[in-house]
Formats: sequence, C-alpha cells, structure tokens
Amino acid sequence: MFNALRKGFGLTFKTMFRPTVTIRYPERKREPAPRFHGRHLLNRHPDGLEKCVGCELCAWACPADAIYVQGADNTPEARYSPGERYGIDYQINYLRCILCGLCIEACPTRALTMTQEYELSSDSREDLIYTKERLLAPLPAGATPLPHTDAAVAARGLEYYENNFAGQTTLAHLQDTYAGRAGRVEESGDPVAVAVDGGGTEPPVAGVDPVIGNAPERRPEGE
Ligand code: SF4
Ligand code: SF4
Repeated sequence: MFNALRKGFGLTFKTMFRPTVTIRYPERKREPAPRFHGRHLLNRHPDGLEKCVGCELCAWACPADAIYVQGADNTPEARYSPGERYGIDYQINYLRCILCGLCIEACPTRALTMTQEYELSSDSREDLIYTKERLLAPLPAGATPLPHTDAAVAARGLEYYENNFAGQTTLAHLQDTYAGRAGRVEESGDPVAVAVDGGGTEPPVAGVDPVIGNAPERRPEGE
C-alpha cells in the first residue's frame, strides 16, 4: 500500500518539474508545421483571373466526397479564368474533409492549395460548407474585378502557365479556342488596356464575391 502511494505521488512530483507541453489556447496559438494541411484556398493569377478551370479533378480525387464543383464556359465578353471554363460554383464540406491533400495534388493548375489555418469548428452545419466566396483568394492589389474581356486579357499578354502556354493568351489563341462555336467569336477592335499594377481599378466590395456576386446555392442535403 505504502509502496503504491510512493510510486503514484513520485510520478506526480517528477512531472511537476518537466516543461509544460500545453498552451493557453485560444489566447496563444501554436505555430503549425510548415507543411501542415489546413483550410483550402482557391488562388488567382496576378491580374485577378481565377486559376480554377472548373475541371472537377479535385472533386473526383477526394476520398471523402467533400468537394462540389460546377463548371461554366468563359465567353469573349466575360472571362473568369484563362481556360475554356471556370468554376461557377465551388464548395468544400469541412464536415467531411479529412484534410488529406489529395485534391490539391489532383489540381492541374495549382488553383487549389491548402493554408495553415486550422480553426475550422462551428456549431452550424451550414457554416462548415465553405462556398466559393469564402475559399477564393482576395483580388490582388491593382487588379480589375472580374469578369474581364478576352481583348483585355490578350492585351496584357501574360503567360498564365509558364513554359507550356507561351503565347496562348493572344487574341488569336482565344479566337481559336472558340472557333466553330456560333456566336462566340466577335471582332473585338482595339485591345483594352487594363492595369495590373497601379491605378484605374476598383477595390473589391467587402462581403460581395467579385466573381459571382451572390453566394451560390448550397449543395442539396445528402448529396
Ligand atoms: S483534403 Fe482530402 S478530404 Fe479534404 S477535400 Fe481535399 S481530397 Fe477531400
Ligand atoms: S480547383 Fe483545380 S482540380 Fe478543382 S476544378 Fe478547379 S482547376 Fe480543377
């Protein structure tokens, strides 16, 4: 009996002098490891165009069926991404997501990456279904809110996909992309200069998605 007490209190006594491993969360926050997988981010190009091309590969790769993507066509007058299509609706359900990172591996354009943000709790199911406006990166400084016209994109002459797509953002390329689709190619006239760095642009409106305006409808329950 005495031996058992001595062993038990001895362990408590020894532990009292060890460095503490707990922290006063949430007042203090622990720095995550550099490659920690936290909440997702939908990235943009430096001119504000979205990197997501609405291909749904991330959704197919997800083992937890946590991603919902709906693609839509860009048009010469309304372009949201450098690709043929863009993600008009994008949702990640953090009640299902296990933060495994397979989706970001599947993404061909590096549109989807993961941040180090780990505070993903809520007492509402709806709050944990992140819609596109919550996942999309803010508009870069100096970029014009979307959509852009093909003429403006071509005038900038950016190479969106280094080493692979050199010269593909010319107006000719964009017209080639839409060749054969009635009503999709128009004579655009002089290219419109759009400032990427500097003035002549409008700041994004707080709380309003610069891309789709209003929050998209949430994925139906149970799907
Ligand atoms: S991190 Fe894993 S579980 Fe979460 S959305 Fe991506 S693929 Fe699905
Ligand atoms: S995030 Fe990437 S993989 Fe997912 S739909 Fe967009 S481009 Fe495709």
